Amino acid sequence: METAFAAVIVAAGRGLRAGGGEPKQYRPLAGRPVLRHALDRMLARRDLCALVVVIHPEDAGRCAAALGGIDDPRLRPPVAGGATRAESVRAGLAALADLDPATAVLIHDAARPFVPDAVIDGVLRGLESADGALPVLPVVDALWRGDSLADQPLSRDGLWRAQTPQGFRLGAIRAAHAAHAGPADDDAVVARTAGLRVALTPGAEENFKITAPGDFARAARIVEAALETRTGQGFDVHRFGPGDHVMLGGIAVPHDRGVVAHSDGDVVLHALTDAVLGALAEGDIGRWFPPSDPRWRGAASDRFLAHAVRRVAERGGRILHADLTVLCERPRIGPHAAAMRARIADILGVDARRVSVKATTTEGLGFTGRGEGIAAIATATVALPADR
Ligand code: MG
Repeated sequence: METAFAAVIVAAGRGLRAGGGEPKQYRPLAGRPVLRHALDRMLARRDLCALVVVIHPEDAGRCAAALGGIDDPRLRPPVAGGATRAESVRAGLAALADLDPATAVLIHDAARPFVPDAVIDGVLRGLESADGALPVLPVVDALWRGDSLADQPLSRDGLWRAQTPQGFRLGAIRAAHAAHAGPADDDAVVARTAGLRVALTPGAEENFKITAPGDFARAARIVEAALETRTGQGFDVHRFGPGDHVMLGGIAVPHDRGVVAHSDGDVVLHALTDAVLGALAEGDIGRWFPPSDPRWRGAASDRFLAHAVRRVAERGGRILHADLTVLCERPRIGPHAAAMRARIADILGVDARRVSVKATTTEGLGFTGRGEGIAAIATATVALPADR
């Protein structure tokens, strides 16, 4: 049986050492702020019962943006931290005051975006036999004391590198913090000062803390390695009607007919929008842009596709490729295919080599063969984080 735990994510630091001119916990990492990565890892745990984020008082707007779209009753409103890490943790613990004091609480740094489940499991297991649990890694490099010249080697025996989340019982760590005078690098220090027994549990290299500018590149590589490929397909038809052109792939193609449509009736962009949404498993164009909504009357269809592309970015992914086939007898697509390809690549934000535009007749068969309308088939390939 699972025992529920609570979590405090400490995001109150200024974190400017990592560069970028903005606190590192709010800098984007594959489309999501670093804080959001850390948060999503915790919220993915079914055994989490409550989570509070401690923020800098000036970061309310940044935090609201980072937490946007989360609909999870376990996520409590963020609380403002203090001048020191210890004060910030106390504010986070106070926001969990309604929970049973025996509840396990994991205190985690927002700048560690990749905490693996195994580390969380280890901390929770450590708490079964001790008052606290501290995930650690062995020191593998030789240690030396010195200034500009090497003085003497130090023994690595019994030395560990500490990580977060560090786990405790809510009542015990709250009491330890209340009794603690002065600053503390982490909560294990506070717990040990109060005489609590803290177990060492397995950390993970992946669970590193973003500190220096180069750490963002390392983090980006980890995100990249966790992407998987998904494919979506789309199909769209519009009936020919009065007019002198048809919109295809965002290009006005001269024709002796137009199309009957609520928007501009661009079957290529409509099929591709559905393909991208299909790769995300987020419904179809009609769900996001209902034809009954007067706002979309005569709308240029590039905005529909741009919306789907934005959703890919918001999910932490990117478009890899699009393949399109237009089905009609006329107009002839060939002379316009290069322009369509360039325009579609522009909307997708990819190189034109990642976009394919083809056309076929249907040998005079069916509605396209009879010249009653025009159709398009699209396939979109998207890279997305495997856990999203
Ligand atoms: Mg359509």
